[in-house]
Amino acid sequence: MTGGVLRGIIWTVPIVGAVLVFGPGSFLAEADASGATASQPVIRMDPEISWSPAAPGEGRLFTLRVVASRHTPLIGVHGAVAGEELHFGRPEAGTFESIAAVPVDADTVVEAELRVLFESGGEKKLTARIPVTRGEYRHERLTVAPRFGAPPDSADQVQLERDRARAASVSAAAHRTPRLWNERVVLPRSSRVTSGFGDGRVFNGQVSSRHLGLDLQGVQGDTVLAAARGVVQVVEPFLLAGNVVYLNHGAGVVSGYFHLSEPLVSPGDTVEAGEPVGRVGATGRVTGPHLHWVVRYGSTSVDPRSLLEVSRAPAERPETSEGSCCVVRGDTLQTARPDVTQSGR
Ligand SMILES: [Zn+2]
Repeated sequence: MTGGVLRGIIWTVPIVGAVLVFGPGSFLAEADASGATASQPVIRMDPEISWSPAAPGEGRLFTLRVVASRHTPLIGVHGAVAGEELHFGRPEAGTFESIAAVPVDADTVVEAELRVLFESGGEKKLTARIPVTRGEYRHERLTVAPRFGAPPDSADQVQLERDRARAASVSAAAHRTPRLWNERVVLPRSSRVTSGFGDGRVFNGQVSSRHLGLDLQGVQGDTVLAAARGVVQVVEPFLLAGNVVYLNHGAGVVSGYFHLSEPLVSPGDTVEAGEPVGRVGATGRVTGPHLHWVVRYGSTSVDPRSLLEVSRAPAERPETSEGSCCVVRGDTLQTARPDVTQSGR
């Protein structure tokens, strides 16, 4: 997190009827580093695009907001960040808000490509360049690649492909489903984290695989809780993940609970935050019982704990830094970033 360095400050970049283009890390990165704001002109954009925190972390969810002025009211906002469609709610009149995800191996900037629809009938395309804070991931550094096991046989290949397709279908369903969850988000287990999100193995300076979930300690049979309200989308044995339960929370958000000894729900069930969905186990490719907890925005895996932060009601959010800018008008849309592949640890 940004640790409140930019607490209470709103960055604003002037847009005065012109196309302004900032290279990666130019304006915002400099302002960020110096912390100097007093001398910057504050000219409100219309609509105003802002986000919090000011520099969201790699592999984390954040909140994106579009606020219309009274003079040019909006009837809709559409868009995408890093190739994932956004789903804007309207927490108050004139304000559109969506959560969005920074991919785990993002560049120094992610772009929000937005299309705003005015009540008067017109529309405008806007691109906001959002600075990204590097994740502090642990890496196991190896200078020589280890000997890999035998490649999966063809039956395993078929199952791996099927598992990937099932996971992708959950992500697609979540983008088609309206938001089902509310501010209540809980940890599926209140136990110790045994392996953090994003930790990776580095072979010869290259990150070869990342841990795209959060491992929570547990013994065989311990209860696993739904992190948030949602609909059970998949309950199946996967090759690497073992018995999985996937929940579709809508508005793009998915959670997954891997290596279960026993699922306690069925596809189509609606579960509330904190309801049991399964029991801790050691199914799939694991060395011992634990819960591997996954949260994805579409197919972008994020640190599951960031779901707790973005789900708070506006009044309950801690005072935090906020970024704001918007820079390119009528830009062409950025192509989607390839999906982050799933790790089976
Ligand atoms: Zn894991």
